[in-house]
Amino acid sequence: MTQPQLFVPQPPESAPDLARKASVLVPFPVDKAYSYALAEGIGAQPGDYVIVPLGGREVPGVVWDDVPDDVKSGKLKGIVHKYDFPPMPEIERRFIDWLANYTMTPRGAVLKMALSVPGALEPPKTAQGYIRGAQLSDATFKGLSPQRKSVLEALADGMPRRASEIAETAGCTPGVIKTMAGQGLLTPVDIFSHAPCRHPDFERPRASLSPTQATAADVLCRYVQDGAYHAALLDGVTGAGKTEVYFEAVAEVLKTGRQALLLLPEIALSNAFLERFKARFGCAPALWHSSLGPAQRRNTWRGVAEGQTKVVVGARSALFLPYHDLGLIIVDEEHDPAYKQDEGVIYNARDMAIVRAHMGKIPVVLVSATPSLETMANVWTGKYAHLQLPDRHAGASLPAMHVIDMKIDKPERQKFISPALMKAVVDTVAAGEQALLFLNRRGYAPLTLCRTCGHRMECPRCTAWLVEHKNSGKLQCHHCGYAMRQPKECPSCNDTDSFAACGPGVERILEEVKEGFPQARTIVLASDTATTHDELKAILDRIRHHEVDVIVGTQIIAKGHHFPNLTCVGVIDADLGLQGGDLRAAERTFQLLHQVAGRAGREEKPGHVWLQTWLPRNKVMMALSQHDRDRFLDIEMQEREAAHMPPVSRLAGIIVSGKNERQVEEVARELGKIAPQAENISTLGPAPAPFYRLRGNFRRRLLVRADKSVNIQKAITDWLGAFKTPSAVRIQIDIDPQSFM
Ligand code: ADP
Ligand code: ZN
Repeated sequence: MTQPQLFVPQPPESAPDLARKASVLVPFPVDKAYSYALAEGIGAQPGDYVIVPLGGREVPGVVWDDVPDDVKSGKLKGIVHKYDFPPMPEIERRFIDWLANYTMTPRGAVLKMALSVPGALEPPKTAQGYIRGAQLSDATFKGLSPQRKSVLEALADGMPRRASEIAETAGCTPGVIKTMAGQGLLTPVDIFSHAPCRHPDFERPRASLSPTQATAADVLCRYVQDGAYHAALLDGVTGAGKTEVYFEAVAEVLKTGRQALLLLPEIALSNAFLERFKARFGCAPALWHSSLGPAQRRNTWRGVAEGQTKVVVGARSALFLPYHDLGLIIVDEEHDPAYKQDEGVIYNARDMAIVRAHMGKIPVVLVSATPSLETMANVWTGKYAHLQLPDRHAGASLPAMHVIDMKIDKPERQKFISPALMKAVVDTVAAGEQALLFLNRRGYAPLTLCRTCGHRMECPRCTAWLVEHKNSGKLQCHHCGYAMRQPKECPSCNDTDSFAACGPGVERILEEVKEGFPQARTIVLASDTATTHDELKAILDRIRHHEVDVIVGTQIIAKGHHFPNLTCVGVIDADLGLQGGDLRAAERTFQLLHQVAGRAGREEKPGHVWLQTWLPRNKVMMALSQHDRDRFLDIEMQEREAAHMPPVSRLAGIIVSGKNERQVEEVARELGKIAPQAENISTLGPAPAPFYRLRGNFRRRLLVRADKSVNIQKAITDWLGAFKTPSAVRIQIDIDPQSFM
């Protein structure tokens, strides 16, 4: 394993030669910045984007601050090209160094996230495109022909498009586009040099804030004016107006000419959110998420680097854009597990946002209705300010909570919806409102069992059952994607038609609703039924326009959406997330169910939430039904204290994996023997990881737990550095693990 090191300046030994060498970090999993020679007449400053030869190829890289190797420059390969582009700011380079060091990843792997669009460094090509005219008023828009309206709608996101593309979307001829441009309804622009979100208008009329909202907004605005690091938790129930409040802080940053970053869990990047942003700032924000096209990526990356793009709304990777002058970070839904990246560079974007803000001396705002225990611990110790919005806006009340004890109110055999919940759904629809049945499991049934011999259909590559998907007629592994046709005979006893589906997934709940309530218009929503942003948007629009009565959905529906007519939420299996013994099982279940419950009755009609549970006395069910979040957090914190677990202590997960089971076990055992054990640090395991086999790899896990005062990275470096790992075995380090798979 390479040891990441922070840059420590050292006095140059051969000063005269130094001017003709530079260290360049390349976007590959290496920690070292390699030394290159500079041709006569080329200067290079830290941060400059360059092209260098590497292993027979030419690759992009960034001049780093490290002192070049003490080798004569004549012996070094030369920098091939220097881009004419603003250098990567110093703060971003230090952020990359810091993050690599903290997560124990090679610096080049972190740089790869920051250099995700090397094409953006090339001088932009030119091509004529169009955006909406700047002077276009609502009144003018209303008076236009339907065809012209569709032209303008095709440009609603503010990104320029070619005339041919607009014409195709809007179903008109390119001639119409030209005419509209002549009339000022469209503005011609150069597509490739058009940075998104250049002129957000912070002076547009804003909502008149309630007194508590105004107080919170004032604090945030003062932080922005202050130009220093501040961290705050903006805490309030769903619908309290948190978005309204942090928009004020964004407006304040825009006044100063600086940039703002708003992080959202990917799934929450909905149309509805963009519409709100547009209503407040008059243009769409620059988006940054996994399904952007290459041109949009290039334009945004460039726009952010040059300082033209003012507001970025993005998923966790937006943290690694080369901000010219970032002035504010907002992390909405800060508790969301999606902020943790579990592959490649293993980091938590919420935590790294705090670090980035601290380094940049700017404010950071964490936003949540159900803050994580980590964040609450920082509030309790005074590290974060606590801004509270206790009530829903305009007096909308919180939903009434009903706990259904499944031991008493039993569904029929082979059914999963209790009579009480079914009645609530029917009554809701009869009243002209909508109901949501929530179950966080895709597919039809999580387990397929042979009734004759008891054989369970398992994934050949993972420790996991195969989930039946009726739509596709397949059995699927939800961990590695393995899929097979549902077999006719049992592979173990060869009996035919002996399979039984055990337990429910959303498809099965949908079937049950259709059987019990055939008149209802139903829809199922899960990540595999809406695979693209557009599909998801279309389904969400249908729900919003009340084209369906009953929605059956997984967590994809739980987050951020606002459906005015949805008044009944039923949770099919409220205990689902409590299984598995994960450190944060209770916390996560509380957060998720609270969020799902928050979909009910967001406007004047009161909402009802029904929790089906086998554990009605469980602390999560009690906290939810009594609307007592703070008591739940207290109990949870006491338990963590008693167990000396985060946020009281620090954890690091060490996963040993490989194809050869014996070798993996051996390595894990040997590592365990020399693992850190002292008064303030201890190592648990090795134990088989809960997913003992994943994607065909055998896995063992060690868990290092340390007092907060301990430098856990150093302890791990010393430990693993003293051990020679066979090349067929992989050791993965997860600092602050969120998942215990
Ligand atoms: P949160 O982010 O806390 O869930 P939102 O900011 O989305 O809450 O507010 C919920 C709803 O109430 C939104 O439709 C929002 O426009 C509206 N709202 C909140 N505060 C105000 C206000 N002061 N004036 C008018 N509407 C408001
Ligand atoms: Zn699998």
